[in-house]
Amino acid sequence: MTQPIVVIGSGLAGYNLVKECRKLNPDQSILMITADDGRNYSKPMLSTGFGKNKTADELAMSTAADMAEQLNIVIRTHTRVTNIDAASKTVFVGEEPIAYSKLVLAWGAEALSPRIEGDAEDHIYSINDLQDYAQFRAAAEGKKRVLIMGAGLIGAEFANDMVSGGFDVDVVAPCDHILPSLLPEEAANAVQQGLEGLGVRFHLGPLVTRISKENDALVAYLSNGQTIETDLVVSAIGLRPRLDLAVKAGLQVSHGIVVNRELQTSEADIYALGDCAEVEGHVLLYVLPLMASARALAKTLTGTTTPVSYGVMPVTVKTPVVPVAVAPVAANSDGNWSIDAQGSDVQAEFRNSEGKLLGYALTGAKVMNKVALNKELAPLMP
Ligand SMILES: Cc1cc2nc3c(=O)[nH]c(=O)nc-3n(C[C@H](O)[C@H](O)[C@H](O)COP(=O)(O)OP(=O)(O)OC[C@H]3O[C@@H](n4cnc5c(N)ncnc54)[C@H](O)[C@@H]3O)c2cc1C
Repeated sequence: MTQPIVVIGSGLAGYNLVKECRKLNPDQSILMITADDGRNYSKPMLSTGFGKNKTADELAMSTAADMAEQLNIVIRTHTRVTNIDAASKTVFVGEEPIAYSKLVLAWGAEALSPRIEGDAEDHIYSINDLQDYAQFRAAAEGKKRVLIMGAGLIGAEFANDMVSGGFDVDVVAPCDHILPSLLPEEAANAVQQGLEGLGVRFHLGPLVTRISKENDALVAYLSNGQTIETDLVVSAIGLRPRLDLAVKAGLQVSHGIVVNRELQTSEADIYALGDCAEVEGHVLLYVLPLMASARALAKTLTGTTTPVSYGVMPVTVKTPVVPVAVAPVAANSDGNWSIDAQGSDVQAEFRNSEGKLLGYALTGAKVMNKVALNKELAPLMP
């Protein structure tokens, strides 16, 4: 009997891959193993839930049982893979061996944990899956104030969302402008001002060093001596591809699990995609790259070896107060920003000395110019 294709992870990468496989072959045996409850949901919606007043259950689109039936696969939920033995083509759940014909790692990225002193560690939430969101919503019940650590995409989105949901929001981050890895300063300032207009207070520069329970509140101590009283703390200081099991299995890793254009790891029958994968040097923790990867890998797994291509992949930051579209500039690119800023409408274009467009950032009304700029941008990985 041929062993199943085993997919580890039931996030957007795992489910999109299986959906694409099913378009090509409805019967191939597929086993999905997931540490969580296997509900199908869209992770980007987690940072829109307070503004829309949606519970975790309302954000879930279907149960694991429904997905298993719809996709004609077996799904093992609440099951954590603890080891991979590439030589014998076996994964382990504790002592239990599970054989695979091909193995797909779609196990995502983990939230970085801040190093914070004090006695309030159990009041610091990072929201990286539906269950985290459910726990955070339960903790937020009846609370008024939230402190968000981090002003990147997730921190900025939660700031907008929670202020829309009626919370009093402080953001603390050690950068000199928000969205530092995505936006040039002028564009970031436009977004910051929009959020400040809603009542968000930014504390840029310092770090939170200590959080203590004092009376009925939490008190955050910042490295610049300031203190902030709050009821809840969200940590959004960054995500890192999950690597531990891959390292233990002897797979090549760098920032992510290293894969080639066919999404194959350093082992012949093991593939990776989504937030855990590093595709020819690209570690992109976004949906568009994982969709492109799912389409290509499905072809490979059903018999037609297909390399993945990344086209132009703009990122939308969900700060509705000042919409943002950005095509990030690759690290170490040579060039300059040219910036046209009118209030909250900013158009920033990054071009090299020959005038070639390498990236852009658009805010406010300028977001509508994204289609024209996309036509001019070179694909990320043709
Ligand atoms: C708040 C928020 C907002 C976002 N907004 C956007 C956006 O607007 N646009 C955008 O493009 N991207 C956005 N992103 C990023 C996007 O959501 C991710 O890139 C994408 O969801 C990653 O999917 P994934 O399947 O690779 O990983 P995940 O969704 O993290 O799935 C990993 C799966 O692996 C399972 N798993 C992990 N370890 C094991 C193990 N050992 N054994 C078994 N199972 C395991 C987990 O249980 C889970 O099912 C956002 C992310 C967040 C957190």
